[in-house]
Amino acid sequence: MKKEARLWDILGDNKVKCHVCANECIILPDKVGICRTRKNINGVLYTLIYGSMISRGSLDPIEKKPLYNYWPGHTAYSIASVGCSFRCLNCQNWSISQATPSDNGDEGYIDFEDYRDRKMSLVEMTPEELVKRVVKSGAKTLAYTYNEPLIWHEWILDTARLLHKEDIKTILVTNGFSTPEASKELIDIGIGAANIDIKGMTDEFYKKICGAPSVQPVLDTAKRFKSNGIHVEITNLIIPDINDDEKDIKKLCDWVYDNLGENTPLHFSAYHPDYKRPSEKRTSFGILDKAYNIAKETGLFFPYVGNIKHEKGSNTYCPNCGEILISRMGFSLSKINITDDNKCKNCSYDLNKDIIGEINKSASSRFSFF
Ligand code: SF4
Ligand code: SF4
Repeated sequence: MKKEARLWDILGDNKVKCHVCANECIILPDKVGICRTRKNINGVLYTLIYGSMISRGSLDPIEKKPLYNYWPGHTAYSIASVGCSFRCLNCQNWSISQATPSDNGDEGYIDFEDYRDRKMSLVEMTPEELVKRVVKSGAKTLAYTYNEPLIWHEWILDTARLLHKEDIKTILVTNGFSTPEASKELIDIGIGAANIDIKGMTDEFYKKICGAPSVQPVLDTAKRFKSNGIHVEITNLIIPDINDDEKDIKKLCDWVYDNLGENTPLHFSAYHPDYKRPSEKRTSFGILDKAYNIAKETGLFFPYVGNIKHEKGSNTYCPNCGEILISRMGFSLSKINITDDNKCKNCSYDLNKDIIGEINKSASSRFSFF
């Protein structure tokens, strides 16, 4: 639904400037920003997707986000809308991320190339209705995910405030293209965790693959979130022949180590051709294994490998003695060697700064849609 936006300025001639993401669009009257979800109506900026969701939500394992060191084994009530601040050529969720909402936010449609007939109905909810559903589901966490959540700023603030009162943790699965003012509001509201994509380490990569001007705002958001107490995990999708150079991988590992710390989980993820197919190849086991080893050699405690079978890259190992702390089969936890007071069972290493929240020791497969 339509609602007046936060974080914007009036310019001359009824133009407005949005500060919700680092695109900082200047929007003419009757036009939308790059994300297509914020519209200038008579010199006032509105979000068109407040409470507009692609479904009532789904219950996902938190490991699917991916978050491996935050409330392991728990369920994340997952919600999404339409729109994104990027145009990634490889987007797996392009049918929602590249959709445009209708002016009252009850529908999304694709407005480009060969897909003009694609339309979807959006489910509308109030924050109170959403919170009731999440509480009823029994999930301890809620994830804003699948399309880009940062552009859903007003809805996130209003729902997170109520969710936190019910002791439900909130998670952003995000491209990290935030501004200092939007990040501050998210930090102040108490977002619990973020999985931030660092898609590449160069502006050239962001321009060519994501249609965004620079990587710097993403790096700044990761630092800002981490230094203000949000649990941060990083994901890097490795695309063959595009960002699979060992030097690039090493640069990313060094950056994470130097700026976010050795205990920041780093997920290397396998690409498969999708949407505009920037590469026709799938990521090989070999390059993911190499990335895992580079991260370990750099000194990162928790490298992971996703979207492909990689035994070491699925497990969490003790940074002190090297024993398995959590082993995983897909998204399920198959073995847990952590005491109730969050110490390694083998060497008693204190994991309180490394693994956040309760571990759900009875977790099995946790998918459902409703
Ligand atoms: S959220 Fe970002 S992309 Fe959307 S209008 Fe605002 S600055 Fe532009
Ligand atoms: S940032 Fe994520 S959702 Fe947005 S276009 Fe890129 S891959 Fe898709």
